Amino acid sequence: MIEEPGSITCIYCEAEAKIFDERAFHRYAPVFGPFRIFICKTCGALLTNPIPDEKVADAMYRSFDGGMYSKARALRRKYPLKTWFRQCLKHMMQDTGLHNKKDFTWIDIGAGEGEMAELMQKQFPNHDGTAIDFHNVPERLRNQHITWIATDLNKTFPVELEQADLVFAITVLEHMANPVDFIRSALGLLKPGGVMYLNCPRADSAAFKILGKKWPYYIPGEHITIPSIRGLQKLMDRECSRLFKAGYEVKIKPVILPYPFGFYLGYYLPFLERVLPFSFDVYLPTGLLECQVKRCH
Ligand SMILES: [Zn+2]
Repeated sequence: MIEEPGSITCIYCEAEAKIFDERAFHRYAPVFGPFRIFICKTCGALLTNPIPDEKVADAMYRSFDGGMYSKARALRRKYPLKTWFRQCLKHMMQDTGLHNKKDFTWIDIGAGEGEMAELMQKQFPNHDGTAIDFHNVPERLRNQHITWIATDLNKTFPVELEQADLVFAITVLEHMANPVDFIRSALGLLKPGGVMYLNCPRADSAAFKILGKKWPYYIPGEHITIPSIRGLQKLMDRECSRLFKAGYEVKIKPVILPYPFGFYLGYYLPFLERVLPFSFDVYLPTGLLECQVKRCH
């Protein structure tokens, strides 16, 4: 399509996207910016254009702690998202038949500090698992029976990465410079009969509509694109039909992931968090989606 000045093409649904924020800065590290944020007129996805320079992204992540803004990382360490990851595991295995398969293999793309990979290892100790991310192997995975590959997730995946039965990416897509290439690479890792699971924020959520730029997942420079359910469906259909012809199934739906109450308090009311006697899980519609793709044959 021909783009009008001030508009770009949505990489998810390929319709026109208009400017949403001409000069956006990283909400917690405002030295990073300005970025130009667009919103798709048709599917509602949020997009950054131009894509932040590789050097800027590099400097940003180096200034963070474990790939995450330091306040968020400290709160994640204090209030581990245990129920959150257990729910991811349950949902990604749902209706897949993998539970009955004795020797399925898995790949965790963008494994971060290794919480999900560690959980997989506990649940399926005899299965071969691989975890990949930009950085070196995190502390918690050092002595685990998991293959770790440090690689740039924005580039072509390394050749030593073999196809697996289960491929997952937990809140990774929104960080990718080019989500189309990323999804293509991730789908390419599926064995026949394999399953891919991902989750990420969704820009068509009520939370974003109500909160706008105050939405917690609106983090310019760090969350490069945020899809909508409709937009991600279009992208998945395009890529899956190209790769798997008609032999695939895509399911995308909103999901509520539980966060510990202390995590929320620490973010918004830290003075109360310091005196919180105990934490518990809270289910709030923060605006996330989950997507499961089955490669049939
Ligand atoms: Zn779109």
